[in-house]
Amino acid sequence: MPATPVGPTDPLAVPRFAGLATFARLPQLDQVDRADVVVVGVPFDSGTTYRPGARFGPAHVRESSRLLRPYNPELEVGPFSSQQVADAGDIACNPFDIKEAVGQIEAGARLLARGGTRLVSVGGDHTIALPLLRVMAELHGPVAVLHFDAHLDTWDTYFGAPYTHGTPFRRASEEGLIDPRRSVHVGTRGPLYAASDLSETEELGYGVISCSAIDRLGPAGAAAAVRDRLGRGPIYVSVDIDVLDPAHAPGTGTPEAGGMTSRELFGLVRSLKGSEIVSADVVEVAPAYDHAQITGIAAAHITYELISLMALDNGRTSAEQR
Ligand code: MN
Ligand code: MN
Repeated sequence: MPATPVGPTDPLAVPRFAGLATFARLPQLDQVDRADVVVVGVPFDSGTTYRPGARFGPAHVRESSRLLRPYNPELEVGPFSSQQVADAGDIACNPFDIKEAVGQIEAGARLLARGGTRLVSVGGDHTIALPLLRVMAELHGPVAVLHFDAHLDTWDTYFGAPYTHGTPFRRASEEGLIDPRRSVHVGTRGPLYAASDLSETEELGYGVISCSAIDRLGPAGAAAAVRDRLGRGPIYVSVDIDVLDPAHAPGTGTPEAGGMTSRELFGLVRSLKGSEIVSADVVEVAPAYDHAQITGIAAAHITYELISLMALDNGRTSAEQR
């Protein structure tokens, strides 16, 4: 670890509303020697089944992240001062050819993750989780997937297409990328195609903690159930912003009523303190349906919490090495 990480632009020198938008006004990757964590945009939405527009998510989340400050009092960590975090820009991918785009995302992520850098990828639609999980499994073996979403995303095909935003976690299971004893969907709700959707997702290796289960268990009980399922070992966190109620995240492609509040989501994520979060994504922000950056701010904040958890784990790893 080099001397002092390069942090966000000083807001007393350049006001928060000025300057080009990197995530949290962090330096760009080419402005630092190395990075422990990179935020990378993946502006791809050709896998969407309903409202398109998540290709504009990365730029919107960056623009909505200008007010993030350097100390996280809930997790008692400075996510940008205890590790080097940088903005890696966007992975360019083909909007007309899903298979080629999936390959480009995989290659781009592999390059960025070289040498142990953790990724926080900002989508884009949920299709992008598959290539990201391929890279994670290469680095860590099958990982536990903690999947926050209104939807299961383990359907088989849409119109015969295998790679869409409703299918990445079925493909990931088929490809052996996930640990089927430790993976879980959290925050699911809304109508399904059939009861077999649930039995199939469990056969694929995912537990299900629905919104109504969260109501039943309460915040502490739900957090305990999540931690219990995840156990020990590497965890990949995938946050579909539609896990939040449309009141908290209107700017998304497939909204479902009856979702989590942003405060409930932050609480659950913070309860992972001490877990090994190897990488994460925040997807499905579609700014055309957003108002007053409601969705963008929620996405920027959840990204900040994930980076904070990584800071705690990076600190522990370097302490163990010493
Ligand atoms: Mn969803
Ligand atoms: Mn999803």
